[in-house]
Amino acid sequence: MIVKDKEFGEVIVRKSPLARNIKFSVSTSGRLSMSVPKYTSNFLAKRFLESNRKMIREKLPIKNPEEQRARDYRKKVLMKKAREYLPYRLEYFAKLYGYKYEKCRLSHANTRWGSCSSNRTISLNIGLMKVPEKLRDYVILHELAHLNHMDHSKAFWAEVAEHDKNYKIHEKKLKQFNPGL
Ligand SMILES: [Zn+2]
Repeated sequence: MIVKDKEFGEVIVRKSPLARNIKFSVSTSGRLSMSVPKYTSNFLAKRFLESNRKMIREKLPIKNPEEQRARDYRKKVLMKKAREYLPYRLEYFAKLYGYKYEKCRLSHANTRWGSCSSNRTISLNIGLMKVPEKLRDYVILHELAHLNHMDHSKAFWAEVAEHDKNYKIHEKKLKQFNPGL
């Protein structure tokens, strides 16, 4: 549920059977998010928000409503571009180098460009659409190599190097970009 607040913009209220008390956090979109026990009334949730206003203002990096909307828009545009590109690029390299993955997921985490899980799902950050192609390809090759090595061992890097001999430069350049939106 989304509650509109005059100061914090859209506030996400998540009713969770597991929540024991009310907890505040910031969602990836920069919105304030409250997790509350399942049977908390909206009235009580709002009152709790009211009484924690000062703490939230001081402790939580909430974006203003215009920024939230601008970010939503950027995300929508990137997601569309990513959907039309990343899964195909991944498939291309997988076929080229003989990798078999289970699924491709698109993510928008703030901290990582990609990941590879033990069930062979490769996640790629839609923010990759903002970085130069060589770096984007490096991330894809990096995650594909994780299908054979679930660590960053010497053998892993040797496999990355086989497909991207400039991987060290690419890894370094990637640090100039931020996966967040
Ligand atoms: Zn890695």
